[in-house]
Amino acid sequence: MGQVLKQYINGEWKLSGSGETREILNPASGEVIAEVTEGIRADVINAVAGAKAAFYDDGWMDATAVERARLLFKLADVLESRAEEFYKLETTNNGKPIRESSVDVSDACACLRYYAGFTTKPHGVTYDVPDDMQSLVVREPIGVCAMIVPWNYPLLMAVWKIAPAIAAGNTVVFKPSEITPLTAIKLFEIIDEIGFPKGVVNLVLGDGPNVGDELARNRDVEKIAFTGGTSTGRSIMKAATTNIKKISLELGGKSPNIVFADADFETAVDYALFAIFCNQGQVCSAGSRLLLQESIYDKFIERLVERAKKIKVGSGFDESTEMGPLISENHMNKVLSYIEIGKNEGATLACGGHRITEGTFGNGYFVEPTIFVDTTPDMRIVQEEIFGPVLVVQKFKDEKEAIKIANDSCYGLAAGVFTNDIAKAHRVIKTLRAGITWINTYHPTYNEAPWGGYKQSGIGRELGTYGYEEYTEVKQININLDVKPTGWFSK
Ligand code: NDP
Repeated sequence: MGQVLKQYINGEWKLSGSGETREILNPASGEVIAEVTEGIRADVINAVAGAKAAFYDDGWMDATAVERARLLFKLADVLESRAEEFYKLETTNNGKPIRESSVDVSDACACLRYYAGFTTKPHGVTYDVPDDMQSLVVREPIGVCAMIVPWNYPLLMAVWKIAPAIAAGNTVVFKPSEITPLTAIKLFEIIDEIGFPKGVVNLVLGDGPNVGDELARNRDVEKIAFTGGTSTGRSIMKAATTNIKKISLELGGKSPNIVFADADFETAVDYALFAIFCNQGQVCSAGSRLLLQESIYDKFIERLVERAKKIKVGSGFDESTEMGPLISENHMNKVLSYIEIGKNEGATLACGGHRITEGTFGNGYFVEPTIFVDTTPDMRIVQEEIFGPVLVVQKFKDEKEAIKIANDSCYGLAAGVFTNDIAKAHRVIKTLRAGITWINTYHPTYNEAPWGGYKQSGIGRELGTYGYEEYTEVKQININLDVKPTGWFSK
């Protein structure tokens, strides 16, 4: 094993005071691919102190928009020039096929450029108020922002948070998932090289219950942005009460993908597969519940299963691979246990349902593309987020029933509707309780458009103008244009 990879705190690469290290694995082979320092609360406290000093004392608060834009553009340029190194590393650490990790890297560059451009655009408003006043609103940075991200899109999630936070003029303390820190560490090598002032962007490594919790609890952190599971989101909300931090949470989902009988059949089948099996089903917005109109139900399942069985599972480095391994042994076991729950609840396996263990597959965490039919709304596999390649199919009679089933969830992240009746598509979308919706497509995500959920899928939005605003304070300024005493009290 090479050298122990370090945290980036206040402009320096640091081993944690813990003296401990953590092994990072390749989920396709179970092999150790790196060793990283294991951060502790004291490291977070140091990183937050550095970020606070950079913001309030060392001038970042006054950095111009042009300067912030310049750094973000530069970060995008260097990341793009080293794209191959990044996507290969992402596939090694996360397992996702190269065709997905390469898109993650180009999406990360586009996101950096979107917010670099956004930095210098107008953000304030003025009001016509009843007095002789100029009333205006400016957006200002919040201060020290902490960020915690999961393992499913390690590089992209880092950029989705760091780019708008820096664009808005904040300083940052960032924590990747303890199991997928490698592309984030590499991103910080670029951050170091291109001359971000010390303390502006910091990287801490370590686990959620200690390092993550300290970020959520620390009184000098003024905002926390989190992506991950709903139960973790709940803990973060509680911890954030210490100083009433601003919070944004991007949590789980159990998103419905509704296919009406009049939809383009092959397109709908194709997207139903893409909605659930892309990134091994480890996507917060995955179309994990497929709602099929009864008149096409049998024919659709037949075609879907035929296609699902052909999905090529394997190493992400094999260019023909369409689905890689799950992220870890623990997570694979969780997914497999949900498959057992589904069987015990009485659902029928239409395909898949097993770990793949032949040959070298046995060293990694591979699970077959799995489809459950004969489900009922109360089943745990229908209500709970599995976060793996497991699709549950539900049957509906008409539009009214489709909407009822679709909204029967504690989550409200995403939803898809497939139909050739545009009025029906709009009627259905209008009644769906979800923050991200698609008509005759599934999954496209744009830097320009807000990303986030209703109900227990989270608070706030990422990306676009909305994502930028999550990293700003709003200040009202009233300027008297008729300067004379008020006359309110007698002289
Ligand atoms: P978690 O929510 O546990 O982890 C996400 C991030 O939060 C990680 O960096 C983790 O640290 C950190 N974290 C964990 N506990 C705390 C805490 N108490 N305080 C602060 N930070 C904490 O997700 P998992 O990775 O374990 O996945 C569990 C489930 O979450 C999945 O099965 C899935 O249902 C859902 N999920 C949803 C995602 C989404 O995009 N909406 C993404 C990933 C997961 P660390 O892991 O380093 O300990």
